[in-house]
Amino acid sequence: MTIQGSRRSASLIRRAAVIGSGVMGAGIAAHLANAGMRVLLLDVVPQALTAEEEKQGLTLADARVRNRLAAAAVGRMGKAQPAQLYDPAWTARIMPGNLADHAAELGEADWIVEAVVERLDVKREVFAAVDAHRRPDTIVTTNTSGLSAASMAEGRSESFRRHFAVTHFFNPPRYMKLVEIVPTADTAPEVVSLLREACEKRLGKGVVIAKDTPNFIANRIGTFGMLVTLEDTLGYGLTVEEADALTGPAMGRPKTATFRMLDLVGLDTLLHVVDNVRERSENPGERAVFARPAVLERLVAGGRTGEKAGAGFYRKI
Ligand code: NAD
Repeated sequence: MTIQGSRRSASLIRRAAVIGSGVMGAGIAAHLANAGMRVLLLDVVPQALTAEEEKQGLTLADARVRNRLAAAAVGRMGKAQPAQLYDPAWTARIMPGNLADHAAELGEADWIVEAVVERLDVKREVFAAVDAHRRPDTIVTTNTSGLSAASMAEGRSESFRRHFAVTHFFNPPRYMKLVEIVPTADTAPEVVSLLREACEKRLGKGVVIAKDTPNFIANRIGTFGMLVTLEDTLGYGLTVEEADALTGPAMGRPKTATFRMLDLVGLDTLLHVVDNVRERSENPGERAVFARPAVLERLVAGGRTGEKAGAGFYRKI
């Protein structure tokens, strides 16, 4: 696939790589595989054995080969799929692995989606590795919730910058229709068109082209509402169960209306999102609204980061 001089079509995206196999990366990988792409799903190399692995007599090399993070993510997706909506062959198209061991294979990908933790420093490091291994025509996108796209691409090759944009999927990626596409000043217009076509025609999404502002559009509005809800609800002495019951199907919204939704998103990710707007906003009123809610800090400090940890606002998920 080349951008300049030829008419590229989204149907030519055959191989994808997703870096980060957490809540979003695993879901995005499943969605791409379901659309017929072969997907390399990469995460960090485990640095130590878990107690369970030690009990089983495994070595660190075994753990690295198995890549428990990616394997667990694929397992979770397998259980969660509404099978009737999906191509049953999709799991076979996902190859989980460690980023360090498989970086060279990034050169085979037509589209690389980054979905690692919401930290600019970590993402920039991942993009340096991607830039070293991608083909000159590989499209690279980030699933950031709202970090600066321009800052993520800073220092990368010209070819990387022309082929780089945000594709912000929402949670869970298989159900949520919206994808925000955020180009930078350097993104080639053909890349934006191709991503729009891929998201709309191959992934069945609705696309909004957003500007590179803190948290783009949907998360800015959504997070603002969430912060107000959080403080008010708990301040009035409602329990999280009562709040979800009142704001869920009774109001024509899903069961996962409020607190269950925050657990699905991940409370640590939410703190990163809140920090991002507060640190980048030039508006003092906005900075005050995007203060870190104490309850979120307390839960995250206690390891209760939401569904991925088995507990968040709800004790057992
Ligand atoms: P997560 O914490 O569930 O997963 C992050 C994964 O990245 C982990 O598996 C971690 O091991 C891996 N990782 C960390 N550093 C890495 C590295 N250097 N190389 C490879 N892998 C690495 O987070 P998530 O909720 O999946 O969020 C991922 C991205 O998607 C973030 O940018 C987040 O803001 C964004 N996002 C999240 C949601 C949501 O609802 N959770 C929605 C939209 C966008």
